[in-house]
Amino acid sequence: MARLSAEYEEKRDFGSTPEPRRNGRGDLQHPLFVVQEHVASTHHFDLRFEIDGVLKSWVVPKGVSTDPRERRLAIHTEDHPLSYAQFEGVIPEGEYGAGAVIVWDRGAIRPLDDRTLHEQYQAGHVTVWFEGEKIYGGYTLVQAKVGGNEDHWLITKLDDDAADARRDPVSTEPHSIISGKTVGEL
Ligand code: MN
Repeated sequence: MARLSAEYEEKRDFGSTPEPRRNGRGDLQHPLFVVQEHVASTHHFDLRFEIDGVLKSWVVPKGVSTDPRERRLAIHTEDHPLSYAQFEGVIPEGEYGAGAVIVWDRGAIRPLDDRTLHEQYQAGHVTVWFEGEKIYGGYTLVQAKVGGNEDHWLITKLDDDAADARRDPVSTEPHSIISGKTVGEL
């Protein structure tokens, strides 16, 4: 079981929040990605990749695009436990990230070159194939250091058969893949 950084636990009061405390694997396909839609102080999407036994995490304010011409900002944030890929619920008022979370999409990922996901992540250049229900095909996630900020990455759809400039699933496919609810219905 991989060690989880202290930052995740330090930000949360597990007596109040329903979020998971520990790492666990569950019965999902691995390695996995998950995209969670989250209405906190800002409305955003959280993109997480299973790397080194934890969920490496980015806030993607606009969500993941299916248009290869569109580069979207992804802001690196603290690692989350693997069990967070199952989390859907409401984080109470006063807690870190207070607000509703749905599992917007989830599935397996695999590297698209001969490096491991660990090597890609360490190099700041991740090229993966997604097998989600809404998001599939190739993407790159590149550490861009926009404005000198090391946490700023950019995610772009590769121009493959799954690319579709008109699909826009963030707007047209808002339902949780677990409960069928939108984030507003939770
Ligand atoms: Mn979030």
